[in-house]
Amino acid sequence: MSSDIPVAQLILDEEQKKSVKLIHKSNELEDHTFDSRSDADGVAAATLLAGLGLDDEAREDITNRWKKRWGSDYGQKGMAQAIHRDLYQCVCGYAHREAGTRKRHSPLDFTGCLAHVEVTYGCDSRKVLRVRGFFVHNAACEEATLTRLPTNPVHPAVFKATLEQLRQGATWTDIQESNRRMIKACTYPGVMRTPL
Ligand SMILES: [Zn+2]
Repeated sequence: MSSDIPVAQLILDEEQKKSVKLIHKSNELEDHTFDSRSDADGVAAATLLAGLGLDDEAREDITNRWKKRWGSDYGQKGMAQAIHRDLYQCVCGYAHREAGTRKRHSPLDFTGCLAHVEVTYGCDSRKVLRVRGFFVHNAACEEATLTRLPTNPVHPAVFKATLEQLRQGATWTDIQESNRRMIKACTYPGVMRTPL
């Protein structure tokens, strides 16, 4: 899977196009691959997608911040190796004028957000094999989504810690336990303490 993310499918204005090009050129992208035979990887993939707001539940939600821009199958249908790739763009980054629409049919204002995520999964297994892209939303987007949308269920710092523990062979119960401990002790970097 050495192909590039098809950024030409994103609907961006000229300035965003330049920024996205730069992001890809300087490799500021995140890239996570998952082994479809591993349960731990399955949990890690699901956690990552939930954190990004790209799990099934979040995508079906009316407040979904992502819009699917592109999707394609690879490999022979019915073959075990056949994969599907989907590309999502943050709705705050959707440059509606570029799409030729004067009126903005989006629940959120344009903020120039550059976030985009490509999800690859097995056609047969439906298991997530790879999640990559630029996961960072710009400040105006974060603000817009904070006021208009419910907050993300999983903070990126929590995801990172979870992934690390899974790699070290921790069980799901261990992870929940240490998650509770870290939240109580307020040791997640960048996570504000919220009163319970
Ligand atoms: Zn965004």
